[in-house]
Amino acid sequence: MHVRPAKFFDENGRRLDGRLPDEMRPVDMKVGVLSNADGSAIVSYGKTKVLAAVYGPREPLQKYTVLPDRASLFVRYHMAPFSTEERKSPVPTRREVEISKVLREALEPVVITELFPRTVIEVYVEVLQSDGGTRTASATAASLALADAGIPMRALVAGVAIGKVDNVVVLDLNEPEDNFGEADMPIVAAPDLGLITLFQLNGVMTVEETQKGLDMALKAISELVEKEKQTLRSSIEEVDVE
Ligand code: ADP
Repeated sequence: MHVRPAKFFDENGRRLDGRLPDEMRPVDMKVGVLSNADGSAIVSYGKTKVLAAVYGPREPLQKYTVLPDRASLFVRYHMAPFSTEERKSPVPTRREVEISKVLREALEPVVITELFPRTVIEVYVEVLQSDGGTRTASATAASLALADAGIPMRALVAGVAIGKVDNVVVLDLNEPEDNFGEADMPIVAAPDLGLITLFQLNGVMTVEETQKGLDMALKAISELVEKEKQTLRSSIEEVDVE
């Protein structure tokens, strides 16, 4: 999307894709989608679709990454060359290196790494289709894949971005809103622990707009975490205990 849309809202205050400002795109979650991984998940927020695969805890290939008192968490975020309108080079960009780092920091507080010293837990996230909000959908997918791998966690995390478009605070920006809006604020949180584990702001917002956006994001994140729990529960086959 290289051309700024003429307007972002119609006469009824609805966005280009028909949503109201505080409305999330349709969310879909599935776990156990890769049989070779210890845990995996596929998450979509509208057209944005990401795949997460978790391996470990296992012995690290590079011994210098070993930590004596806990597992090291390795996170790699990558956009598939076919995920964008124009082919993206498969070579990791600075943006992907930065997103890998912030995703690791967003997950570290909830993974109980102390249980697995001298091992590595690897999280690979591949963006299959991108339409804004890929880092936040990645956090949600990684959280689900870690839980699907049976990695002990203090809580689940989920992510969503809020932003400002034509001076209106909106939830879960799509690509045109992200690219041409005035601000974009991705948030990842663990509602069960009352923690925000990722908070970034690109652009300028007033204190009131930030507060309003944060409220919107935390409400949506609580709903996303509930959906993660339902998805995980329904992935476990019922066992009859005699
Ligand atoms: P996020 O995906 O977390 O919102 P950004 O704000 O950096 O991250 O990117 C916004 C959107 O811009 C992405 O979701 C994607 O649709 C698009 N985008 C990012 N990088 C590229 C790229 N190299 N080529 C094409 N589109 C891109």
